[in-house]
Amino acid sequence: MTRPVTIVTGGGRGIGAAVCRRLAADGHDVALGYAGDREAAESTARAVREAGVRCVSVRADVSDAADVDRLFDTAADRLGPVTGLVNNAGVTGPLGRLADASEGVLRRVVDVNLVGCLLCCRRAARDMAALGTGAIVNVSSGAATLGGPGEYVHYAAAKAAVDTLTLGLSKELGPDGVRVNAVAPGLVDTDLHTAMGDPGRPARMAPSIPLRRAGEPGEIAAAVAWLLSPEASYTTGTVLRVAGGR
Ligand code: NAP
Repeated sequence: MTRPVTIVTGGGRGIGAAVCRRLAADGHDVALGYAGDREAAESTARAVREAGVRCVSVRADVSDAADVDRLFDTAADRLGPVTGLVNNAGVTGPLGRLADASEGVLRRVVDVNLVGCLLCCRRAARDMAALGTGAIVNVSSGAATLGGPGEYVHYAAAKAAVDTLTLGLSKELGPDGVRVNAVAPGLVDTDLHTAMGDPGRPARMAPSIPLRRAGEPGEIAAAVAWLLSPEASYTTGTVLRVAGGR
């Protein structure tokens, strides 16, 4: 029996790495995209292969259309027709008020989180519609509905757009046999918080979360894996919030 072939962008570290490991355990062959951390990508790729499935890692900036095509082409050449896509790559920029954000940060955040997701969705839409089957999961954020005041309004706005693209694309691709959903994580313990200049953020914010803790990457991966699986065969156009009640 052929295995599902799933592309995971930003698959080397954090939530993406947990998704790769979980999909490997579920029997997917995995194409792991990464931006720059080759060591993390190779380490996750090794763990995926050790689970008994195939894995190819590809350096690909999701905001670059040529890179996105190379990622999809490599996945198809090395693993076979792509049946799954997890749009996980994301950046926030430094925490702060919108008034203090630089134009460069604003543009990069929209470029990676929204344009990157659109470029990957566009290519997946072409390939999966031709195949007559497929599933896409976009990694949004609880910030899309909270707004991110004082922290990252630009990031929250980009993620809200990801929710809308999920809804619209699910309606476009439903007749082609392709499902499109999103997972909106809450606060999850990854390096993302260090990158935005606040490594202690998950521990500090835990008391304000109804479940009183940050989430683990594996808890997000479980939701992604379910949405990709045949168990979710009648689920499309939904945003599944995995945020500890926040
Ligand atoms: P992370 O630990 O900082 O990892 C980010 C990943 O994205 C890395 O693998 C990185 O690649 C990749 N990446 C960044 N820019 C990229 C680009 N231009 N092209 C391709 N890949 C790129 O972050 P995370 O916490 O796992 O976040 C994963 C997703 O969850 C993001 O979409 C984020 O917005 C979302 N999210 C996270 C949280 C949270 O609290 N952590 C909450 C809500 C939503 P390299 O490894 O090569 O650098």
